[in-house]
Amino acid sequence: MTERRLLYEGKAKKVFLGDREDELFVEFKDDATAFNGQKRGQIAEKGVVNARISARLFTSLAAAGVANHFLEQVDDRTLKVRRLTMIPLEVVVRNRVAGSLQQRTGLAEGTILERPVVELYYKNDALGDPLLNDDHVQALRLAPPEVVERLKALGRRVNEVISAYFDARDLILVDFKLEFGWAQGELLLGDEISPDTCRLWDKASLTKMDKDRFRRDLGGVAEAYQEVLARVLR
Ligand code: ADP
Ligand code: UDP
Repeated sequence: MTERRLLYEGKAKKVFLGDREDELFVEFKDDATAFNGQKRGQIAEKGVVNARISARLFTSLAAAGVANHFLEQVDDRTLKVRRLTMIPLEVVVRNRVAGSLQQRTGLAEGTILERPVVELYYKNDALGDPLLNDDHVQALRLAPPEVVERLKALGRRVNEVISAYFDARDLILVDFKLEFGWAQGELLLGDEISPDTCRLWDKASLTKMDKDRFRRDLGGVAEAYQEVLARVLR
């Protein structure tokens, strides 16, 4: 195999130049971080699990008409994807209260939201990924209003598709984060969808099966990720 050129190393993934200008290889690492990089660790085989889960969900989303960057899985922790010019926004969609929404509102964790809540965060490590409203997005010129509306609608559509997918596998999709970008004038879903970027609870027991086990030192982190993979593949 020829040596791949590393373009960028992030907290959870390495991004390599693809065989073509308009493609990339994304390698999923076992490294885990939380609280804006302040907590660091490793989760055994996380990269393998998250690559596989992301590949499966991107395939289902494409079948449901949600255009995304996924092309193919090339090895156990690497996906070939379309190269995007990323929009520095994190689109968070929530079905139940948890995490920062719990802290901001005081509502009890697990409270069902009558209508999904969509939020935008500025993807900026130096600022700690702050929550933005639509006017902030305009002030920062991160995306024009019509693109913001498309991002929110895409977030809701992804929520419909993957909530049903997880529900059929006895998992509650509590909340999740998406990232989008542009390729040849097309707005595509990028990055990953995994237990690193979703909160997933077992439907019967409400057991947390995602990165909250790492964030909160709940133990059984790698086991929970493996169980999510097993259910996603069924
Ligand atoms: P972070 O940058 O937050 O530490 P990662 O370790 O997950 O995150 O790094 C992956 C990086 O690759 C992110 O910055 C993400 O926005 C970017 N990315 C994801 N998919 C694509 C794509 N298809 N094209 C270009 N960049 C992408
Ligand atoms: N999330 C993420 N990356 C981030 C911030 C949040 O993947 O940089 C995900 C997180 O895993 C959860 C959802 O987005 O599924 C909502 O996260 P929240 O705002 O509650 O932040 P947290 O308290 O988890 O940092």
